[in-house]
Amino acid sequence: MALRLDGKALAAQLERELEARVRAGLGQAGRPPGLAVIRVGHDPASAVYVANKERACGRVGIRSFATHQPADTDQQTLLKTIQQLNRNPAVDGILLQLPLPRGLDGRALLLAIDPDKDVDGLHPLNLGRLLRGEQGPRSCTPAGVMALLQRAGIALEGKRALVVGRSILVGQPMALMLQQANATVTVAHSCTVDLLARCREAELLVVAAGRPGLLGAEAISPGTVVVDVGIHRQPAQREGDRGRLCGDVRAGEVETLASHLTPVPGGVGPMTVVMLLVNTVRCWARSHALDPVLPELH
Ligand code: NAD
Repeated sequence: MALRLDGKALAAQLERELEARVRAGLGQAGRPPGLAVIRVGHDPASAVYVANKERACGRVGIRSFATHQPADTDQQTLLKTIQQLNRNPAVDGILLQLPLPRGLDGRALLLAIDPDKDVDGLHPLNLGRLLRGEQGPRSCTPAGVMALLQRAGIALEGKRALVVGRSILVGQPMALMLQQANATVTVAHSCTVDLLARCREAELLVVAAGRPGLLGAEAISPGTVVVDVGIHRQPAQREGDRGRLCGDVRAGEVETLASHLTPVPGGVGPMTVVMLLVNTVRCWARSHALDPVLPELH
């Protein structure tokens, strides 16, 4: 039976470690770390994500600077908001919650965020820093996967890793991070021929295709470490039901084959949120010349 890579438990543990670091650094820094989350419009999922992030900030002692703008906010107004937050010395991290309402140019807005406050790690400069192996905020989801693997003591050096998916948000930075940990990495995508054969060759499989239940027993060799990044809500069975969450992997089929498996929910999802906090506390520590925060994590 696969060992469960419990992201919920590890995120809670990392929150405790961050809270201790914030408490210890408050005297020297003279203020707590600050995270500004910009939400635009009324996407219901975003409202839940932002509320979760704000609660998590509260637990570790990060001050939240939440900005909620109406759906018809124009590009210039948002640019001004970002520029003000860039200049605000109490703000260490800025996050623009996606998706944005139609008509707004998300790329230009992400580009306007000060790269040293870009706690989502999506600014081109930070993607470039990752490519070169230089310090800088890392994309939260793949960094969360690295933290899960690292704290579970899973050695990556020399491992054959397959990343399914090549998005800028997950697949690409994931592949780079695994490479930097000395894994031998293959990236599969929607045009990959014979995906199942590639999967069966892998010793570590990270699935971020955004396709519910894409892979099952047919894709896994015994002893594979399986990380399921996908998250989907299944259609409700009954009225009033919300529908269960599932991943890109058919977990029931895989758990007797894999050596380790991330559950959905409770695997990669909570790690994504906690890495946002890690990035924020790291930015704060750096700007106050405090010791590096969780330097053993990616
Ligand atoms: P995306 O749609 O931007 O990218 C999907 C990638 O998968 C693409 O590169 C595509 O080429 C590839 N792909 C699609 N179908 C494929 C197939 N049949 N075979 C092989 N490759 C295929 O999605 P994303 O933003 O990278 O997110 C991927 C999944 O991860 C989604 O389910 C998303 O909800 C989830 N996600 C979860 C978290 C979390 O915190 N748990 C965070 C981010 C994304």
